[in-house]
Amino acid sequence: MTKEKEVEKETQKTEQQKVKLEDLVSFAKRRGFVFPSSEVYGGFGAVYDYGPYGVELAKNIKEAWWKAMVQENENIVGLDSSIFMHPKIWEASGHVSGFSDPLAECKQCHTRVRVDHLLEEAGVFADEKMSEEEINKLLVENKEKLRCPKCGGSDFSEAKNFNLLVQSNLGNFTGDWDKEPTYLRGETCQGIYVNFKNVLDSVRVKIPFGIAQIGKAFRNEITARQFIFRKREFEQMEFQYFVRPENGMTEYERWRERRWQYYLNLGINEKNLRWHEHENLVFYAKAAWDIEYRYPFGFKELEGIHHRGDYDLTQHSKFSGKDLSYRDLQTNEKYIPHVIETAVGVDRTFLAVLTEAYTEEELEDGKTRTVLKFPKKLAPIKVAVFPLMKNKPELVKKAREVFGELKSEWMCEFDDNGNVGKRYRRQDEIGTPYCVTIDFDTLETGEVTVRDRDTMKQERVKTEELKDWFSEKL
Ligand code: ATP
Repeated sequence: MTKEKEVEKETQKTEQQKVKLEDLVSFAKRRGFVFPSSEVYGGFGAVYDYGPYGVELAKNIKEAWWKAMVQENENIVGLDSSIFMHPKIWEASGHVSGFSDPLAECKQCHTRVRVDHLLEEAGVFADEKMSEEEINKLLVENKEKLRCPKCGGSDFSEAKNFNLLVQSNLGNFTGDWDKEPTYLRGETCQGIYVNFKNVLDSVRVKIPFGIAQIGKAFRNEITARQFIFRKREFEQMEFQYFVRPENGMTEYERWRERRWQYYLNLGINEKNLRWHEHENLVFYAKAAWDIEYRYPFGFKELEGIHHRGDYDLTQHSKFSGKDLSYRDLQTNEKYIPHVIETAVGVDRTFLAVLTEAYTEEELEDGKTRTVLKFPKKLAPIKVAVFPLMKNKPELVKKAREVFGELKSEWMCEFDDNGNVGKRYRRQDEIGTPYCVTIDFDTLETGEVTVRDRDTMKQERVKTEELKDWFSEKL
Protein backbone atom coordinates (compact mmCIF):
# COMPACT_ATOMS: atom_id res chain seq x y z
CA MET A 1 0.00 0.00 0.00
CA THR A 2 1.33 3.46 -0.83
CA LYS A 3 1.84 5.93 1.97
CA GLU A 4 -0.91 8.13 0.57
CA LYS A 5 -3.37 5.22 0.64
CA GLU A 6 -2.41 4.47 4.22
CA VAL A 7 -3.16 8.02 5.29
CA GLU A 8 -6.48 7.88 3.40
CA LYS A 9 -7.40 4.62 5.14
CA GLU A 10 -6.62 6.24 8.46
CA THR A 11 -8.91 9.17 7.71
CA GLN A 12 -11.77 6.79 6.87
CA LYS A 13 -11.24 4.90 10.11
CA THR A 14 -11.47 8.14 12.05
CA GLU A 15 -15.10 8.40 11.08
CA GLN A 16 -15.89 5.08 12.73
CA GLN A 17 -14.99 6.25 16.21
CA LYS A 18 -18.01 6.15 18.52
CA VAL A 19 -17.54 9.43 20.36
CA LYS A 20 -16.57 12.86 19.07
CA LEU A 21 -13.61 14.57 20.71
CA GLU A 22 -15.57 17.73 21.57
CA ASP A 23 -18.22 15.62 23.36
CA LEU A 24 -15.55 13.80 25.34
CA VAL A 25 -13.84 17.07 26.28
CA SER A 26 -17.02 18.61 27.66
CA PHE A 27 -18.05 15.36 29.36
CA ALA A 28 -14.61 15.07 31.01
CA LYS A 29 -14.93 18.60 32.36
CA ARG A 30 -18.55 18.31 33.48
CA ARG A 31 -17.91 15.07 35.36
CA GLY A 32 -14.69 16.14 37.06
CA PHE A 33 -12.16 14.17 35.02
CA VAL A 34 -10.16 16.82 33.12
CA PHE A 35 -10.17 20.62 33.45
CA PRO A 36 -8.37 23.08 31.18
CA SER A 37 -5.49 24.56 33.16
CA SER A 38 -5.84 28.11 34.57
CA GLU A 39 -9.34 28.33 33.18
CA VAL A 40 -10.35 31.38 35.22
CA TYR A 41 -7.53 33.22 33.43
CA GLY A 42 -8.69 32.05 30.02
CA GLY A 43 -6.74 28.78 29.98
CA PHE A 44 -3.13 27.93 29.19
CA GLY A 45 -2.31 26.22 25.90
CA ALA A 46 -1.89 22.44 25.93
CA VAL A 47 -1.84 22.21 29.72
CA TYR A 48 -4.61 20.39 31.58
CA ASP A 49 -5.52 19.51 35.17
CA TYR A 50 -7.01 16.27 36.40
CA GLY A 51 -10.14 16.73 38.50
CA PRO A 52 -11.31 14.59 41.43
CA TYR A 53 -12.24 11.55 39.30
CA GLY A 54 -9.45 12.11 36.77
CA VAL A 55 -6.77 11.97 39.43
CA GLU A 56 -8.15 8.61 40.61
CA LEU A 57 -8.28 7.23 37.09
CA ALA A 58 -4.71 8.39 36.37
CA LYS A 59 -3.54 6.86 39.65
CA ASN A 60 -5.16 3.53 38.78
CA ILE A 61 -3.57 3.60 35.31
CA LYS A 62 -0.15 4.15 36.87
CA GLU A 63 -0.76 1.37 39.38
CA ALA A 64 -1.78 -1.07 36.62
CA TRP A 65 1.39 -0.23 34.67
CA TRP A 66 3.63 -0.50 37.74
CA LYS A 67 2.11 -3.84 38.64
CA ALA A 68 2.61 -5.24 35.14
CA MET A 69 6.11 -3.84 34.72
CA VAL A 70 7.68 -3.90 38.21
CA GLN A 71 5.68 -5.85 40.77
CA GLU A 72 5.18 -8.95 38.66
CA ASN A 73 8.77 -9.19 37.44
CA GLU A 74 11.66 -10.28 39.60
CA ASN A 75 14.27 -8.64 37.38
CA ILE A 76 12.64 -5.22 36.97
CA VAL A 77 13.10 -2.43 39.50
CA GLY A 78 11.66 1.05 39.87
CA LEU A 79 13.25 4.49 39.88
CA ASP A 80 12.18 8.06 40.50
CA SER A 81 14.77 10.40 39.04
CA SER A 82 14.50 14.18 39.10
CA ILE A 83 12.89 16.44 36.54
CA PHE A 84 16.02 18.61 36.51
CA MET A 85 19.26 16.96 35.50
CA HIS A 86 22.74 18.02 34.45
CA PRO A 87 22.38 19.97 31.17
CA LYS A 88 25.09 17.83 29.54
CA ILE A 89 22.68 14.89 29.63
CA TRP A 90 20.56 16.58 26.98
CA GLU A 91 23.60 17.21 24.82
CA ALA A 92 24.66 13.57 25.08
CA SER A 93 21.17 12.33 24.28
CA GLY A 94 20.97 14.48 21.15
CA HIS A 95 18.04 16.56 22.42
CA VAL A 96 19.85 19.92 22.36
CA SER A 97 20.80 19.54 18.71
CA GLY A 98 18.06 17.36 17.29
CA PHE A 99 14.88 17.27 19.37
CA SER A 100 12.79 19.43 17.12
CA ASP A 101 9.63 19.63 15.05
CA PRO A 102 9.19 21.61 11.81
CA LEU A 103 7.25 24.81 12.46
CA ALA A 104 5.68 27.21 9.94
CA GLU A 105 3.26 30.09 10.28
CA CYS A 106 0.06 30.71 8.36
CA LYS A 107 0.65 34.02 6.57
CA GLN A 108 -3.00 34.94 6.86
CA CYS A 109 -3.84 34.41 10.55
CA HIS A 110 -0.34 33.77 11.99
CA THR A 111 -1.31 30.42 13.51
CA ARG A 112 1.76 28.24 14.06
CA VAL A 113 1.50 24.78 12.60
CA ARG A 114 3.54 21.59 12.74
CA VAL A 115 4.33 21.02 9.09
CA ASP A 116 4.82 17.23 9.20
CA HIS A 117 1.33 16.91 10.72
CA LEU A 118 -0.18 19.33 8.21
CA LEU A 119 1.30 17.31 5.36
CA GLU A 120 0.10 14.03 6.85
CA GLU A 121 -3.41 15.40 7.26
CA ALA A 122 -3.34 16.24 3.55
CA GLY A 123 -2.32 12.66 2.72
CA VAL A 124 1.39 13.35 2.19
CA PHE A 125 3.88 11.22 4.10
CA ALA A 126 6.20 13.29 6.31
CA ASP A 127 7.77 13.01 9.74
CA GLU A 128 9.67 15.12 12.22
CA LYS A 129 12.94 13.35 11.47
CA MET A 130 13.10 14.86 7.94
CA SER A 131 15.55 17.69 7.35
CA GLU A 132 14.34 21.28 6.97
CA GLU A 133 15.16 21.02 3.28
CA GLU A 134 13.07 17.89 2.74
CA ILE A 135 10.11 19.32 4.64
CA ASN A 136 10.22 22.65 2.77
CA LYS A 137 10.34 20.83 -0.55
CA LEU A 138 7.16 18.95 0.39
CA LEU A 139 5.60 22.18 1.66
CA VAL A 140 6.11 23.87 -1.72
CA GLU A 141 5.10 20.82 -3.79
CA ASN A 142 1.85 20.34 -1.88
CA LYS A 143 0.91 23.98 -1.33
CA GLU A 144 -2.52 23.57 -2.91
CA LYS A 145 -3.46 20.67 -0.65
CA LEU A 146 -2.53 22.30 2.66
CA ARG A 147 -5.02 24.21 4.78
CA CYS A 148 -4.49 26.21 7.96
CA PRO A 149 -6.51 24.50 10.71
CA LYS A 150 -7.68 27.91 11.98
CA CYS A 151 -8.51 30.07 8.96
CA GLY A 152 -8.33 27.61 6.04
CA GLY A 153 -5.56 29.63 4.34
CA SER A 154 -2.94 27.88 2.24
CA ASP A 155 0.00 30.27 2.33
CA PHE A 156 2.66 29.33 4.86
CA SER A 157 6.06 30.70 5.82
CA GLU A 158 9.15 28.56 5.31
CA ALA A 159 9.40 25.69 7.83
CA LYS A 160 12.05 25.97 10.55
CA ASN A 161 13.03 23.27 12.99
CA PHE A 162 11.90 24.30 16.44
CA ASN A 163 13.55 22.71 19.50
CA LEU A 164 11.04 21.20 21.94
CA LEU A 165 13.12 21.31 25.11
CA VAL A 166 11.69 23.58 27.81
CA GLN A 167 14.36 25.77 29.44
CA SER A 168 14.67 27.19 32.93
CA ASN A 169 16.96 29.34 35.10
CA LEU A 170 17.37 26.72 37.83
CA GLY A 171 20.65 27.22 39.72
CA ASN A 172 21.63 30.24 37.60
CA PHE A 173 21.64 33.62 39.35
CA THR A 174 23.41 35.73 36.74
CA GLY A 175 20.46 36.87 34.67
CA ASP A 176 21.81 35.46 31.42
CA TRP A 177 20.59 31.97 32.10
CA ASP A 178 19.35 31.41 28.56
CA LYS A 179 22.99 31.10 27.45
CA GLU A 180 23.43 28.02 29.65
CA PRO A 181 19.92 26.89 30.48
CA THR A 182 18.90 23.96 32.58
CA TYR A 183 16.10 21.95 31.05
CA LEU A 184 12.90 20.47 32.35
CA ARG A 185 13.31 16.90 31.18
CA GLY A 186 11.91 16.19 27.73
CA GLU A 187 11.56 12.49 28.52
CA THR A 188 11.97 10.40 31.65
CA CYS A 189 14.24 7.70 30.24
CA GLN A 190 17.46 9.76 30.39
CA GLY A 191 17.16 9.54 34.19
CA ILE A 192 17.19 5.76 33.81
CA TYR A 193 20.32 5.67 31.63
CA VAL A 194 22.32 7.91 33.93
CA ASN A 195 21.34 5.78 36.95
CA PHE A 196 22.17 2.49 35.22
CA LYS A 197 25.41 2.06 37.19
CA ASN A 198 23.84 3.13 40.50
CA VAL A 199 21.12 0.52 40.16
CA LEU A 200 23.61 -2.14 39.13
CA ASP A 201 25.85 -1.40 42.11
CA SER A 202 23.10 -1.14 44.70
CA VAL A 203 20.56 -3.85 43.89
CA ARG A 204 21.22 -7.48 43.07
CA VAL A 205 20.36 -7.37 39.38
CA LYS A 206 22.16 -8.86 36.44
CA ILE A 207 21.57 -8.76 32.74
CA PRO A 208 18.88 -9.08 31.51
CA PHE A 209 17.17 -6.62 33.84
CA GLY A 210 14.93 -3.60 33.55
CA ILE A 211 14.35 -0.21 35.17
CA ALA A 212 10.90 1.38 35.13
CA GLN A 213 9.91 4.92 35.92
CA ILE A 214 6.80 7.09 35.96
CA GLY A 215 7.16 10.85 35.91
CA LYS A 216 6.50 14.21 34.35
CA ALA A 217 8.06 15.34 31.08
CA PHE A 218 7.87 18.70 29.32
CA ARG A 219 7.88 19.63 25.65
CA ASN A 220 7.25 22.88 23.86
CA GLU A 221 4.73 21.23 21.53
CA ILE A 222 3.88 23.49 18.61
CA THR A 223 0.26 22.55 18.15
CA ALA A 224 -2.06 22.56 21.12
CA ARG A 225 -4.94 20.56 19.69
CA GLN A 226 -6.23 17.06 20.48
CA PHE A 227 -6.92 17.60 24.17
CA ILE A 228 -4.71 15.57 26.55
CA PHE A 229 -3.20 13.58 23.66
CA ARG A 230 -0.58 16.26 23.14
CA LYS A 231 0.25 18.26 26.25
CA ARG A 232 3.19 20.50 27.04
CA GLU A 233 3.42 19.06 30.54
CA PHE A 234 2.63 15.36 30.57
CA GLU A 235 3.46 12.15 32.34
CA GLN A 236 5.37 9.20 30.95
CA MET A 237 5.69 5.57 31.99
CA GLU A 238 9.00 4.46 30.55
CA PHE A 239 10.88 1.22 30.79
CA GLN A 240 14.38 0.27 29.69
CA TYR A 241 15.38 -3.37 29.48
CA PHE A 242 19.14 -3.99 29.40
CA VAL A 243 20.15 -7.09 27.45
CA ARG A 244 23.11 -8.85 25.88
CA PRO A 245 23.54 -7.47 22.33
CA GLU A 246 22.92 -10.83 20.65
CA ASN A 247 19.60 -11.26 22.51
CA GLY A 248 18.29 -7.84 21.52
CA MET A 249 15.90 -8.83 18.76
CA THR A 250 14.43 -11.82 20.65
CA GLU A 251 13.80 -9.66 23.71
CA TYR A 252 12.38 -6.93 21.51
CA GLU A 253 9.80 -9.28 20.03
CA ARG A 254 8.96 -10.62 23.48
CA TRP A 255 8.27 -7.10 24.77
CA ARG A 256 6.15 -6.28 21.73
CA GLU A 257 3.92 -9.23 22.54
CA ARG A 258 3.78 -8.43 26.22
CA ARG A 259 2.86 -4.80 25.68
CA TRP A 260 0.08 -5.70 23.23
CA GLN A 261 -1.33 -8.15 25.75
CA TYR A 262 -1.11 -5.47 28.46
CA TYR A 263 -3.57 -3.28 26.57
CA LEU A 264 -5.99 -6.16 26.14
CA ASN A 265 -5.77 -6.76 29.90
CA LEU A 266 -6.51 -3.07 30.37
CA GLY A 267 -9.85 -3.65 28.68
CA ILE A 268 -8.98 -2.13 25.29
CA ASN A 269 -10.81 -3.76 22.40
CA GLU A 270 -8.27 -5.27 20.00
CA LYS A 271 -10.17 -3.71 17.07
CA ASN A 272 -9.10 -0.30 18.34
CA LEU A 273 -5.38 -1.14 18.43
CA ARG A 274 -2.93 -1.52 15.60
CA TRP A 275 0.80 -1.72 14.97
CA HIS A 276 2.69 0.97 13.12
CA GLU A 277 6.26 0.36 12.02
CA HIS A 278 8.58 3.37 11.77
CA GLU A 279 9.76 3.76 8.21
CA ASN A 280 12.39 6.36 8.95
CA LEU A 281 14.56 4.79 11.68
CA VAL A 282 17.09 6.99 13.49
CA PHE A 283 20.59 5.80 12.66
CA TYR A 284 21.22 3.92 15.92
CA ALA A 285 17.84 2.17 16.23
CA LYS A 286 17.53 -1.48 15.32
CA ALA A 287 13.72 -1.57 15.29
CA ALA A 288 10.85 0.75 16.19
CA TRP A 289 7.12 0.07 16.28
CA ASP A 290 4.28 2.01 17.83
CA ILE A 291 1.09 0.67 19.28
CA GLU A 292 -1.62 2.99 17.99
CA TYR A 293 -5.07 3.46 19.47
CA ARG A 294 -8.16 4.56 17.57
CA TYR A 295 -8.74 7.92 19.27
CA PRO A 296 -11.76 10.08 18.36
CA PHE A 297 -9.47 11.74 15.78
CA GLY A 298 -8.16 8.49 14.30
CA PHE A 299 -5.37 5.98 14.93
CA LYS A 300 -2.47 7.68 16.70
CA GLU A 301 0.56 6.65 18.75
CA LEU A 302 -0.19 5.40 22.22
CA GLU A 303 3.10 3.66 22.99
CA GLY A 304 6.50 3.40 21.34
CA ILE A 305 8.55 0.19 21.54
CA HIS A 306 12.11 0.68 20.43
CA HIS A 307 15.28 -1.35 20.12
CA ARG A 308 17.85 1.38 20.80
CA GLY A 309 21.02 -0.70 20.53
CA ASP A 310 23.87 0.58 22.72
CA TYR A 311 23.38 4.23 21.74
CA ASP A 312 22.28 5.75 25.05
CA LEU A 313 24.82 4.14 27.38
CA THR A 314 27.60 4.75 24.84
CA GLN A 315 26.68 8.43 24.55
CA HIS A 316 26.58 8.94 28.30
CA SER A 317 29.88 7.11 28.70
CA LYS A 318 31.41 9.43 26.12
CA PHE A 319 30.00 12.68 27.50
CA SER A 320 30.50 11.90 31.20
CA GLY A 321 33.83 10.13 30.88
CA LYS A 322 32.47 7.34 33.12
CA ASP A 323 32.55 3.72 32.04
CA LEU A 324 28.95 2.55 31.76
CA SER A 325 29.71 -0.94 30.50
CA TYR A 326 28.61 -4.13 32.19
CA ARG A 327 30.86 -6.92 33.40
CA ASP A 328 29.51 -10.44 33.37
CA LEU A 329 30.85 -11.86 36.64
CA GLN A 330 30.74 -15.43 35.41
CA THR A 331 32.54 -15.03 32.11
CA ASN A 332 34.35 -11.80 32.99
CA GLU A 333 33.16 -10.44 29.68
CA LYS A 334 32.67 -6.65 29.46
CA TYR A 335 30.20 -5.00 27.10
CA ILE A 336 27.73 -2.13 26.68
CA PRO A 337 24.25 -3.64 27.01
CA HIS A 338 21.61 -3.05 24.37
CA VAL A 339 18.36 -1.39 25.39
CA ILE A 340 14.77 -2.30 24.65
CA GLU A 341 12.49 0.59 25.51
CA THR A 342 8.76 0.74 26.01
CA ALA A 343 7.40 4.28 26.44
CA VAL A 344 3.83 5.35 26.97
CA GLY A 345 2.08 8.45 28.28
CA VAL A 346 -0.27 8.35 31.26
CA ASP A 347 -2.38 10.97 29.46
CA ARG A 348 -2.62 9.06 26.19
CA THR A 349 -3.58 5.92 28.13
CA PHE A 350 -6.15 8.00 30.02
CA LEU A 351 -7.68 9.26 26.77
CA ALA A 352 -7.69 5.75 25.26
CA VAL A 353 -9.31 4.24 28.35
CA LEU A 354 -11.90 7.04 28.53
CA THR A 355 -12.75 6.74 24.82
CA GLU A 356 -13.02 2.98 25.16
CA ALA A 357 -15.24 3.16 28.24
CA TYR A 358 -17.60 5.92 27.04
CA THR A 359 -20.93 4.35 26.09
CA GLU A 360 -24.36 5.73 25.37
CA GLU A 361 -26.94 3.03 25.88
CA GLU A 362 -30.58 2.93 24.96
CA LEU A 363 -32.62 1.52 27.84
CA GLU A 364 -35.81 -0.51 27.69
CA ASP A 365 -37.93 2.47 28.74
CA GLY A 366 -36.65 4.41 25.70
CA LYS A 367 -34.34 6.61 27.77
CA THR A 368 -30.60 6.68 27.21
CA ARG A 369 -27.88 6.47 29.80
CA THR A 370 -24.24 7.47 29.57
CA VAL A 371 -22.02 4.95 31.25
CA LEU A 372 -18.26 4.62 31.52
CA LYS A 373 -17.57 0.91 31.28
CA PHE A 374 -14.14 1.00 32.87
CA PRO A 375 -12.54 -2.27 33.90
CA LYS A 376 -13.14 -2.40 37.66
CA LYS A 377 -9.47 -1.95 38.51
CA LEU A 378 -9.43 1.41 36.71
CA ALA A 379 -12.75 2.80 37.97
CA PRO A 380 -12.14 5.98 40.04
CA ILE A 381 -14.84 5.06 42.56
CA LYS A 382 -15.41 1.38 43.23
CA VAL A 383 -18.56 1.53 45.38
CA ALA A 384 -21.19 4.23 45.99
CA VAL A 385 -23.30 3.99 49.14
CA PHE A 386 -26.80 5.51 49.38
CA PRO A 387 -29.39 5.77 52.13
CA LEU A 388 -32.74 5.30 50.37
CA MET A 389 -33.98 8.61 51.82
CA LYS A 390 -31.86 11.40 53.20
CA ASN A 391 -34.43 12.61 55.74
CA LYS A 392 -34.63 9.31 57.66
CA PRO A 393 -31.84 9.45 60.28
CA GLU A 394 -31.91 5.67 60.90
CA LEU A 395 -31.22 4.98 57.19
CA VAL A 396 -28.52 7.65 57.01
CA LYS A 397 -26.87 6.28 60.16
CA LYS A 398 -26.77 2.73 58.79
CA ALA A 399 -25.56 3.92 55.38
CA ARG A 400 -22.78 5.91 57.08
CA GLU A 401 -21.73 2.76 58.96
CA VAL A 402 -21.56 0.72 55.73
CA PHE A 403 -19.69 3.54 53.98
CA GLY A 404 -17.21 3.74 56.88
CA GLU A 405 -16.51 0.00 56.62
CA LEU A 406 -16.02 -0.06 52.86
CA LYS A 407 -14.00 3.14 52.45
CA SER A 408 -11.11 1.71 54.43
CA GLU A 409 -10.65 -0.81 51.58
CA TRP A 410 -11.77 0.98 48.40
CA MET A 411 -12.43 4.47 47.02
CA CYS A 412 -16.10 4.90 47.89
CA GLU A 413 -18.59 7.72 47.62
CA PHE A 414 -21.55 8.57 49.83
CA ASP A 415 -24.51 10.07 48.00
CA ASP A 416 -27.89 11.08 49.41
CA ASN A 417 -28.84 13.69 46.81
CA GLY A 418 -31.94 13.29 44.65
CA ASN A 419 -33.69 9.96 44.13
CA VAL A 420 -31.92 6.63 43.78
CA GLY A 421 -32.48 6.54 40.00
CA LYS A 422 -30.61 9.85 39.62
CA ARG A 423 -27.82 8.63 41.88
CA TYR A 424 -27.42 5.50 39.70
CA ARG A 425 -27.12 7.69 36.59
CA ARG A 426 -24.50 9.86 38.26
CA GLN A 427 -22.45 6.84 39.26
CA ASP A 428 -22.86 5.26 35.80
CA GLU A 429 -21.45 8.45 34.29
CA ILE A 430 -18.27 8.19 36.32
CA GLY A 431 -18.02 4.42 35.85
CA THR A 432 -18.66 3.20 39.42
CA PRO A 433 -19.04 -0.60 39.18
CA TYR A 434 -21.33 -1.02 42.24
CA CYS A 435 -23.93 0.96 44.15
CA VAL A 436 -25.18 -0.09 47.58
CA THR A 437 -28.58 1.11 48.83
CA ILE A 438 -29.64 0.96 52.46
CA ASP A 439 -33.45 0.78 52.77
CA PHE A 440 -35.99 0.05 55.47
CA ASP A 441 -35.58 -3.72 54.96
CA THR A 442 -31.89 -3.33 55.77
CA LEU A 443 -32.84 -2.22 59.27
CA GLU A 444 -34.91 -5.41 59.69
CA THR A 445 -32.92 -8.05 57.79
CA GLY A 446 -29.43 -6.55 57.64
CA GLU A 447 -29.42 -6.93 53.85
CA VAL A 448 -28.55 -4.16 51.38
CA THR A 449 -29.23 -3.86 47.64
CA VAL A 450 -26.15 -4.03 45.45
CA ARG A 451 -26.63 -2.83 41.90
CA ASP A 452 -24.25 -3.73 39.07
CA ARG A 453 -23.24 -0.91 36.66
CA ASP A 454 -23.14 -3.01 33.49
CA THR A 455 -26.10 -5.40 33.90
CA MET A 456 -28.07 -2.96 36.12
CA LYS A 457 -29.20 -6.10 38.01
CA GLN A 458 -29.76 -5.84 41.74
CA GLU A 459 -28.91 -8.35 44.40
CA ARG A 460 -29.43 -8.51 48.18
CA VAL A 461 -26.28 -9.00 50.21
CA LYS A 462 -25.90 -9.26 54.00
CA THR A 463 -24.13 -6.24 55.49
CA GLU A 464 -21.62 -8.38 57.35
CA GLU A 465 -20.74 -10.20 54.11
CA LEU A 466 -20.30 -7.04 52.02
CA LYS A 467 -16.52 -6.76 52.40
CA ASP A 468 -15.92 -10.36 51.31
CA TRP A 469 -18.44 -9.98 48.50
CA PHE A 470 -16.64 -6.92 47.13
CA SER A 471 -13.20 -8.42 47.68
CA GLU A 472 -14.21 -11.19 45.33
CA LYS A 473 -15.85 -8.93 42.75
CA LEU A 474 -13.25 -6.18 42.74
P1 ATP B 1 4.56 12.07 18.93
O1 ATP B 1 5.21 11.55 17.67
O2 ATP B 1 3.09 11.81 19.01
O3 ATP B 1 4.95 13.49 19.23
P2 ATP B 1 6.74 10.84 20.26
O4 ATP B 1 7.06 9.71 19.33
O5 ATP B 1 7.57 12.06 20.21
O6 ATP B 1 5.17 11.22 20.14
P3 ATP B 1 7.98 9.63 22.50
O7 ATP B 1 9.07 10.61 22.58
O8 ATP B 1 8.28 8.27 21.95
O9 ATP B 1 6.73 10.27 21.73
O10 ATP B 1 7.33 9.51 23.95
C1 ATP B 1 6.83 8.29 24.47
C2 ATP B 1 5.37 8.40 24.79
O11 ATP B 1 5.10 9.56 25.59
C3 ATP B 1 4.46 8.55 23.57
O12 ATP B 1 4.18 7.29 22.99
C4 ATP B 1 3.23 9.16 24.19
O13 ATP B 1 2.39 8.17 24.78
C5 ATP B 1 3.80 10.04 25.27
N1 ATP B 1 3.88 11.44 24.82
C6 ATP B 1 4.85 11.99 24.04
N2 ATP B 1 4.62 13.29 23.84
C7 ATP B 1 3.48 13.59 24.51
C8 ATP B 1 2.73 14.79 24.69
N3 ATP B 1 3.11 15.94 24.17
N4 ATP B 1 1.59 14.72 25.44
C9 ATP B 1 1.19 13.56 25.99
N5 ATP B 1 1.86 12.41 25.85
C10 ATP B 1 3.00 12.40 25.13
